[in-house]
Amino acid sequence: MIVRPKVRGFFCVTAHPAGCAAHIQEQIDQIRNRGPIQNGPKRALVIGASTGYGLASRITAAFGSGAGTFGVYYDRPPAEDRPATPGWYNTIAFERAATAAGLYARSLNGDAFSDAIKNQAIDLIGRELGPIDLVVYSVASPRRVHPRTGAIHKSVIKPVGQPYTNKTVDTDLGIVSDITIEPATAEEIADTVAVMGGEDWELWMQALDRAGLLAPGATAVAYSYIGPEVTWPIYRNGTIGLAKEDLERAARRIDAMLKAHGPGRALVSINKALVTQASSAIPVVPLYIAVLYKIMKAQGTHEGCIDQIQRLFSTQLYNGRALAQDDGGRVRLDDREMQPEVQRQIREIWPRVATENLDELTDIQGYRAEFLKLFGFGLAGVDYDADVDLNMTS
Ligand code: NAD
Repeated sequence: MIVRPKVRGFFCVTAHPAGCAAHIQEQIDQIRNRGPIQNGPKRALVIGASTGYGLASRITAAFGSGAGTFGVYYDRPPAEDRPATPGWYNTIAFERAATAAGLYARSLNGDAFSDAIKNQAIDLIGRELGPIDLVVYSVASPRRVHPRTGAIHKSVIKPVGQPYTNKTVDTDLGIVSDITIEPATAEEIADTVAVMGGEDWELWMQALDRAGLLAPGATAVAYSYIGPEVTWPIYRNGTIGLAKEDLERAARRIDAMLKAHGPGRALVSINKALVTQASSAIPVVPLYIAVLYKIMKAQGTHEGCIDQIQRLFSTQLYNGRALAQDDGGRVRLDDREMQPEVQRQIREIWPRVATENLDELTDIQGYRAEFLKLFGFGLAGVDYDADVDLNMTS
């Protein structure tokens, strides 16, 4: 089948197998070119491993430090005439490259929130890999079936307390308009915390601990975002921000649990705003990202997921020194995004952005190119006119 991009709003309903494989190779090459990360992880579990920051973490652990990796992800396989979601192709391409490099790489496709997937993962890790020294929790999901109550929680991206109006962009059509989002109800807030908060991360860590599968001195890390004031009502002070506060609460609990066994640690890393499937679904944020990319590319400080995680590993987690934490105990990889000069320029550009000047004032072209890349489109060296095997059997 010949696969073309079919963008529907903030999603692309097709993904290109060869393009996803090329995207994986590009990230592996980037990590290899930076050289080895000494004293890095040897056995890593990545939950949410197939795209975005989790995938970048898996690639960095494997190709930066030679780690064996176990990945948990939730992607749709291909149907007869419908490509899989990109994470499905990414995972196959990653496993092939890791295996060819002599590295253990095993993945489970299923709901990380469920007891069944946790039990399967723990059984396989116990039999095949051994105690884990790095757990990366990088799940971004719209819903969670609670493993104890069976309740279905759906996360929402809404402000808390009062309505929020700001500019947003339809990244596909290039139309800038105002959007007003009504505040979340108490139930929506609780549901979002249940999905995107820290409870599931804690359940994973407790299950690994019970099974004796946490190596002494293990590191556990989860990712969060803070961002500038323009996005605070919808992010930091909104439903997702409250869920991220809960993630930080979980980090403190997990940290105490790991320290009870020795020198382990758990932390939240605040990462840069980047185009991923998760971030493209948030109102206002894609327009902010398009402005941010323009400024940071001009400055030469732009980084992608793989650069961010390479920097996390090499300058924070595995540099042999104490972590540089902010007063909330978080590691800050958003330091370049939050530089006063970058944010000054954002504040200067933001009120002026409109449909007519979108190309001039923002890097909307770069945004679109990166968005399509998430689905395997626009990669150099890929023949997009060729027939591809949707099952990626060869
Ligand atoms: P993403 O959509 O690219 O990745 C999400 C991953 O979670 C995928 O591998 C997906 O398969 C997996 N997943 C979703 N539901 C699952 C389930 N039920 N079971 C198993 N796996 C499941 O998202 P991302 O942007 O890389 O986000 C990862 C983390 O990074 C999130 O916590 C997010 O808040 C954080 N973060 C993102 C940004 C950003 O700008 N993208 C910035 C800072 C922090």
